[in-house]
Amino acid sequence: MLHKITSLTVRDVRFPTSLEQHGSDAMHTDPDYSVAYVVLDTDCGLKGFGLTFTVGKGTEIVVCAVEAVAGLVVGKSLQEIVSDFRGFYRLLTSDGQMRWLGPEKGVIHLAIAAVLNAVWDLWARAEGKPLWKLLVDMDPKQIVSCIDFRYITDALTEEEAVEILVKAQEGKQRREEHMLKEGYPAYTTSCAWLGYSDQLLKQLCTDALKSGWTKFKVKVGADLEDDKRRCRLMRQMIGPDNTLMIDANQRWDVAEAISWVSSLAEFKPLWVEEPTSPDDILGHAAISKALAPLGIGVATGEQCHNRVMFKQFLQASALQFVQIDSCRLGSVNENLAVLLMAHKFQVPVCPHAGGVGLCELVQHLILFDYICVSGSLGNRMCEYVDHLHEHFTSPVVIHDAHYMPPKDPGYSCEMLESSVQSHQYPEGDVQVKNDNAV
Ligand SMILES: [Mg+2]
Repeated sequence: MLHKITSLTVRDVRFPTSLEQHGSDAMHTDPDYSVAYVVLDTDCGLKGFGLTFTVGKGTEIVVCAVEAVAGLVVGKSLQEIVSDFRGFYRLLTSDGQMRWLGPEKGVIHLAIAAVLNAVWDLWARAEGKPLWKLLVDMDPKQIVSCIDFRYITDALTEEEAVEILVKAQEGKQRREEHMLKEGYPAYTTSCAWLGYSDQLLKQLCTDALKSGWTKFKVKVGADLEDDKRRCRLMRQMIGPDNTLMIDANQRWDVAEAISWVSSLAEFKPLWVEEPTSPDDILGHAAISKALAPLGIGVATGEQCHNRVMFKQFLQASALQFVQIDSCRLGSVNENLAVLLMAHKFQVPVCPHAGGVGLCELVQHLILFDYICVSGSLGNRMCEYVDHLHEHFTSPVVIHDAHYMPPKDPGYSCEMLESSVQSHQYPEGDVQVKNDNAV
């Protein structure tokens, strides 16, 4: 079957997470987790579902951008797209007029991520496989044929990418079995959002320890004394052997980041995440250099807008942990490029997740990374946040602090139609408090 795409619909779906300070950090104090939700219809009845993540206001702008690119997708068949996926990626990202809105960054790139996520979902469903398995079963040449190498060949050529994938064929079967049995290691961010009280933090941390969690992230960056108190509390609760990470969500200037994090060094964080502007590659390099003697790495990526930025972060030794995001980059295609570059530079990938649907999506990519690229779990883990999974038809399965590989066909981003309708903005029954309707 050709699976001709006959229509694309996109909806603005918002969840009132700010009411209870879920997701609050030093810069996003009251996020309402939201998505631009895309459904592709085909002539054979099969559908593809995709989304991109936002934190509330402005989701309508992403919806508008999705509508602007819809004409490049509708009318094409799945076979036509995937037989030249690199070409299709470039068609979307390099449209002669729309590329002025990016290129490959900002709202237009978020919109393209939502559309391409839906195309990948459709492809995996057409093959009857979960997306990670579709990728794992592809041969190296087919995988690289999905990647646009434009602007990154000084760091990674197509030939090198094939070589990496061919080399990793050894042991692939064993690693896939390992994942099916044990799952991929995760860490939790759910205990210590910035807006949570110490009491809530303690309770959530106690519960998490009981459920087998060993790696925890704390939001920091608003007030140093608060950070010290909260990190001390966390470290006392989790003990010296469990892992602690801190996340400042871009709060500081470079020198401030170095001094602030140095004063939290006694709590032994593995990394500081997003210490400064996500665009400041040289700033991150300076912070990395200054914190290395303290044994603290720098992690970033959730707002790193494309593969070219990641390339420079890697070239400048500006990060020690690569945090890919399934909705910030141009879907699987661009994430594949980043996974392969990270491997070449020998920097571990620890994906960003949480929000709405980000855990559901990115688990597929990190499973592929382990089975087919890195072959290692050393210093690697995937973020997990325990919110909003109940709105998905195939929610993530966490067992003993590990992501268990999804079994259902697709990219796990189909939402329950009842959830979409009740949270649709602005007409759904459940409304966000920051209503900016006029
Ligand atoms: Mg973060």
